[in-house]
Amino acid sequence: MRIGHGYDTHRFVEGRPLVLGGVNVPHDKGLLAHSDGDVVIHALCDALLGAAALGDIGAHFPDTSADFKNIDSRVLLRRVQALLAQNSHEVINADITIIAEEPKMAPHIDVMRDNLCADLDVTRDAINIKATTNEKMGFIGNREGIAVHAVALIG
Ligand code: MG
Repeated sequence: MRIGHGYDTHRFVEGRPLVLGGVNVPHDKGLLAHSDGDVVIHALCDALLGAAALGDIGAHFPDTSADFKNIDSRVLLRRVQALLAQNSHEVINADITIIAEEPKMAPHIDVMRDNLCADLDVTRDAINIKATTNEKMGFIGNREGIAVHAVALIG
């Protein structure tokens, strides 16, 4: 078994949808990014790539490439899953922590989970997603952006 960790953060901006775990979360701001800004999926991809010693999301899907402009990050997650499979790895489980002062994540967690499980071709007990605020401290507490940590185990 192999373990990997991923971390990502993106800044809130006006005029973009907020996409987290493949869910369009209703909010007055979205996340600034070359892709759709799905910080949950980016952290998860980095955890999976890290576990497989396959580098990181930026190396595989560079933000300088027009191919990935505004791309649905679920496409990237499915590509990471395929890359793992090509290297004879399978996803065992992942645990994800979203750190955000707003909006409330609880109503959306189940759908995010279903999306990630579908993309990784794993059962529901393989993916956990939880959320916390930053107790109003720092850039997250000031509602400047969202950060996500992910840990993944692969076999
Ligand atoms: Mg990112």
